[in-house]
Amino acid sequence: MNTLKTEQHDGIKSIEQVLRDAYDAGLRAIPYGRVADYIPELAKADPNAFGICMIDGDGRTCSIGDAGTRFSVQSVSKVIILAAALKFRGFDGTFSHVMMEPSGDSFNSILKLDTRSNLPFNPMINAGAIQTVSLLVDHISFEELLDYARLLCRDGGITLDEKVYRSEAETGDRNRAIVYLLKSKGVLQGDPERTLELYFKMCSLAVNAKSLAALGLIISNGGVDPIEGARLIGADNVRTIKSLMFTCGMYDYSGEFGVRVGVPSKSGVGGGLVCSAHGPLGFGFYGPALDPYGNSIAAVKAMEHISKELGLHVFNY
Ligand code: GLN
Repeated sequence: MNTLKTEQHDGIKSIEQVLRDAYDAGLRAIPYGRVADYIPELAKADPNAFGICMIDGDGRTCSIGDAGTRFSVQSVSKVIILAAALKFRGFDGTFSHVMMEPSGDSFNSILKLDTRSNLPFNPMINAGAIQTVSLLVDHISFEELLDYARLLCRDGGITLDEKVYRSEAETGDRNRAIVYLLKSKGVLQGDPERTLELYFKMCSLAVNAKSLAALGLIISNGGVDPIEGARLIGADNVRTIKSLMFTCGMYDYSGEFGVRVGVPSKSGVGGGLVCSAHGPLGFGFYGPALDPYGNSIAAVKAMEHISKELGLHVFNY
């Protein structure tokens, strides 16, 4: 558990120590967090699990702890959903249906959607991601989105976790309320039940910290997989995705995370966190004990440490 594994050593020795210290800082935070239980299947996660993976532009990989453990991607899939929407529907075709503003509310809030706006605030919260999925549901199948997720995460082993999917589909009443509120306002772009099914399936993909590190790496490399050389996201779309990760990716903690860490990131209630730093450098985390906002408490602590030590804040000078 506590052993550092490096697949290659050249030039990243000092980073290993930074990751080890970050891992220890994360472990110390775990007792203050709680595993999500509103999706019953998620409550089965080991609260003490914690893993970090970092991949650089040459594919050098450094991992510590439970970096190979599979868990459900949950809201980190909102990044993949947005990338797909921008690819298949274009910038205007996406943002004529969802806004680009931080909501300041919790990830599953319905409040401002009903009282302040007809369109969801941004694609990084549930209402915005559900709306974004409604743009895709008649144009791309789940299998095609799964293939895209496998490419973006450099992980052919990603599959649908059927148990998580069924658990969420059975208990996702709040998301059901969101999709029907969007329909009642006349803004939803697809069938509500098919939209929800695709949204729940995308939340239930089984990834690990290494998959998320690869996702972070490809985004930080401008949308090109630096190891395979393939362009997976258009450069303009990457700028949009990173902007929204920075401003909205950590829910109603996004502002403070931006100040303290300053790296475009996206979390999920399964305990995942992806961070896309300059370098190119990608980080993936797994730590299912969550803070009150729904972010992995250990991953947030660890990334704050890493960002400070490696000088990764985007506004450093
Ligand atoms: N599937 C979860 C939900 O819709 C995703 C939320 C999250 O990860 N914050 O509630």
